[in-house]
Amino acid sequence: MSKVAIIGAGAAGYFTAIQLMQMGFSGTLKMFEKSKPLAKVKVSGGGRCNVTHACFDPNELVGFYPRGNKELLGPFHHFQPGDMIGWLSENGVELKVEDDGRMFPITDSSQTIIDCFERQLNPHILVHAGVKKIVPAEQGWEIVLDNGEVSFFDRVVVTVGSSPQFAELLKQMGLHMIEAVPSLFTFHLTDEKVHQLSGLAIEAEVSIEGADWAIEGPVLLTHWGVSGPAVLKLSAWAARWLATKDYHATLLVNSMPRLSGEGLLELLQGIRINAARKQVRNVGPTSIPNRWWQYIVGNEDSLDKLWADVRNVELEEWVKRLHHLRLEIQGKSTFKEEFVTAGGVDLKYINFKTMESKTHPRLHFAGEVLNIDAVTGGFNFQAAWTTAFLTAKGIMENEQ
Ligand SMILES: Cc1cc2nc3c(=O)[nH]c(=O)nc-3n(C[C@H](O)[C@H](O)[C@H](O)COP(=O)(O)OP(=O)(O)OC[C@H]3O[C@@H](n4cnc5c(N)ncnc54)[C@H](O)[C@@H]3O)c2cc1C
Repeated sequence: MSKVAIIGAGAAGYFTAIQLMQMGFSGTLKMFEKSKPLAKVKVSGGGRCNVTHACFDPNELVGFYPRGNKELLGPFHHFQPGDMIGWLSENGVELKVEDDGRMFPITDSSQTIIDCFERQLNPHILVHAGVKKIVPAEQGWEIVLDNGEVSFFDRVVVTVGSSPQFAELLKQMGLHMIEAVPSLFTFHLTDEKVHQLSGLAIEAEVSIEGADWAIEGPVLLTHWGVSGPAVLKLSAWAARWLATKDYHATLLVNSMPRLSGEGLLELLQGIRINAARKQVRNVGPTSIPNRWWQYIVGNEDSLDKLWADVRNVELEEWVKRLHHLRLEIQGKSTFKEEFVTAGGVDLKYINFKTMESKTHPRLHFAGEVLNIDAVTGGFNFQAAWTTAFLTAKGIMENEQ
């Protein structure tokens, strides 16, 4: 009978242990935790736990993962949001879907998930101790605890999340690691006029000059810069690129991405005819908020003009600013709801059928310790559930 150790009792660690038990694992199973089990689940989703997302097509689902999108396609055919919803339901937890696809327990409390996991886990499995070292041994690994105790295991599952100390340890063990950088953050902008628009929300396409990504969606103006779903998504995709630039770059904002330059010019010419006797500050394209229109026009003289007096060169300038507004990014802030790190174990060296390392046999990885991360919406937890499920399945296949 084999001995399996799980290091870290977070989302991925618990789900691996529970899956192993439910799949009939009959060997010795221990899960080591250095602080509080399921602490991140507890605070997740503002205490409501956005446990997964109502997206059931693996091809579509992978589009939410800036890192891991290629590698997760196969795994999502084995265990995806539909499977997690089914598993929770079988184990007494019903979920609800919000308009944007995020899924939460109907109780709106992360404690419901914690209670469910604790009901499913044999409490003797959990050991309250930190792991200091993993040492190679014949046909397995020795685990050295913080208190110096040493135990042998045939297989070890690493589910330590984004712990920098453990990442360093894995690097010393010769695992290929991708350096950690923050993901999901908001941008600081230098233009103080934008700060004065704090609280305003616009629909726009945002991109970064010199980089490939363009994201359309809500953009929220804040007293330090920009936030909102489109900005957070862009920060996730551009996380590594922006880190190399020390978070100094030019943000490009297209306030009317559905219209061509010509179409937009025609629209403004139409306003010039129809609102000829009205002031520019009071009438702009109806699809953008008036305060944003006033910011786009920029100077007081133009805003005071009657539309009838607007010259063609001004119209052309406004088209340019509506389509290619340039804002200087200088720094970032962590998004308070969901802080995620990009980086971790290099996916090239992981077998995505079993989550076992290709370079370090009998060592498996699940959850955020891997170089996998997603935009907000329940996708980060889903990656933890999926990789935990595959780890358990992989271990069970070796048991036979
Ligand atoms: C505030 C916040 C809110 C979030 N909300 C959401 C959300 O609503 N939806 C979503 O999808 N994602 C959310 N996330 C992201 C999500 O929490 C993570 O993706 C997820 O927790 C990763 O699970 P994990 O098990 O890999 O790591 P973790 O949950 O971080 O668990 C790792 C565990 O390993 C333990 N550990 C570390 N080192 C050792 C060691 N040496 N020895 C023993 N134990 C060790 C840690 O103490 C920890 O308990 C949120 C994150 C934060 C910070």
